[in-house]
Amino acid sequence: MPVALSGRQVLLRVRACAVCRTDLHIVDGELAHPDLPLVPGHEIIGEVAALGPDAERFTAGDRVGVCWLGSTCGECRYCRSDQENLCEAARFTGYTQDGGFAEYATADERYCFAVPAEYGDAEAAPLMCAGVIGYRSLTRAGDARRLGLYGFGAAAHIVAQVARYQGREVFAFTRPGDREGQEFARELGAVWAGGSDEAPPEELDAAIIFAPVGPLVPAALQAVCRGGTVVCGGIHMSDIPSFPYELLWGERTLSSVAHVTRRDAEEFLALASRVPVRTEVETFPLSQANEALAALREGNVRGAAVLVA
Ligand SMILES: [Zn+2]
Ligand SMILES: [Zn+2]
Repeated sequence: MPVALSGRQVLLRVRACAVCRTDLHIVDGELAHPDLPLVPGHEIIGEVAALGPDAERFTAGDRVGVCWLGSTCGECRYCRSDQENLCEAARFTGYTQDGGFAEYATADERYCFAVPAEYGDAEAAPLMCAGVIGYRSLTRAGDARRLGLYGFGAAAHIVAQVARYQGREVFAFTRPGDREGQEFARELGAVWAGGSDEAPPEELDAAIIFAPVGPLVPAALQAVCRGGTVVCGGIHMSDIPSFPYELLWGERTLSSVAHVTRRDAEEFLALASRVPVRTEVETFPLSQANEALAALREGNVRGAAVLVA
């Protein structure tokens, strides 16, 4: 396919691209600045098909992964202080530049990652966002031993495995009544699984919220102990209802994770092989991208939905 590559761009033949909740928010018009028209998809596993004039990191045929962080300015206060995820000039795959729900995609080679060889293409795809943003969220939870995960989808099913590997206890919160989701969480080693309207059997040291549901914030604050942390691990969330100061009192911390850095991706991909993280995927052909998005919207995906070539 004829395409003019510039600088350090590479052309990728897409082998697999996972479907993330953020893709849904973009398609549903809930995020403010998509660069329309747009190809969504930011969990790409692809094969390098062509190289820009200055590209040097990879050779044709290499398998690489692309995540949400498409590029950064490299010069601002954030880029210079290991916080490139906060760069105000950053571009994002499948949001402010075209992504991977396609046969081919372009990417800046400096934002591409070697993919651990033991993973198949479809199995590797969810590592690129669910895994990486889940990992960043987990690091924000500090050394919490009893960890709550609100929303047991693609990110949580990976984080649960890493958390167990690190010797933590996982408490999984699903939509109320989602017995299948709770069973899935127990299979992945959760010591307790219940609805997000239930109180856990013990106080938690930290909780990560992956569901885009603002009312879960006061619920999670209620579930963590004094000095505990609640991390909002997604890019979009509905409004947080007002809550009594009592819930934050006691030196509880409420924080958010915004995007990811390349270091997050590198650290997580290395860790994933060691754990080893096993991803549960449900594959759809590229032509059924809309069906995959619909399944995710309805909560009918166990693990992660992945579009495959
Ligand atoms: Zn994502
Ligand atoms: Zn910057």
